[in-house]
Amino acid sequence: MPVRGARALRANLAGGTHHAYAHKGGGFCVFNDSAVAARLMQAEWFRQHRQERKPLQVAVIDLDVHQGNGTASIFANDLSVFTLSLHGQKNFPFHKEASDLDVELPDGCADADYLQALEQALDELERRFEPGLLLFLAGADPFEGDRLGRLALSYDGLEARDRRVFDWAWQRRIPLAFSMAGGYGVKIDETVQVQINTYRVALEYWRKWQR
Ligand SMILES: [Zn+2]
Repeated sequence: MPVRGARALRANLAGGTHHAYAHKGGGFCVFNDSAVAARLMQAEWFRQHRQERKPLQVAVIDLDVHQGNGTASIFANDLSVFTLSLHGQKNFPFHKEASDLDVELPDGCADADYLQALEQALDELERRFEPGLLLFLAGADPFEGDRLGRLALSYDGLEARDRRVFDWAWQRRIPLAFSMAGGYGVKIDETVQVQINTYRVALEYWRKWQR
């Protein structure tokens, strides 16, 4: 059951600081905003549903190119939060934590293989978990022009990625909040373009939610 009144898609113009652990920062991240958001929404859920024993089920769909090690660590052994991370196998962090579902991608992975991996991951998420809220990290760093990404997604590929996640949430009427996470383009305007594309698709889906 989703959060009451949350017929929505929401965006953060920053965030996605997924390398931060509960007890320490790491990889440009001081606090783990997804973890804080998940816990706050679970608290709100209990405030609204005092009779419920089961906490709000939150899935974190982390599509930044780096593994969400901090998030995985914080929610290890927590059955109320499902952590999914699609990331570069050889990329930072070099010591990875175990998410509920990790999908490791080889260097140079391009649109078709990436989108297939995403599809399989969403299928598995659906088989194993019933989310009432989705937190999506829409990292721009899988882009082919990224300095740190090591993958090779095009603008179209990343837009298809975003559309797939927004559509997956919309089809199931699961509220979704997303954050920007990483992006380190050789040309900064390319990173900005990837992010603008994410917001353009998000706006399309936000309009659907408002009807
Ligand atoms: Zn990243």
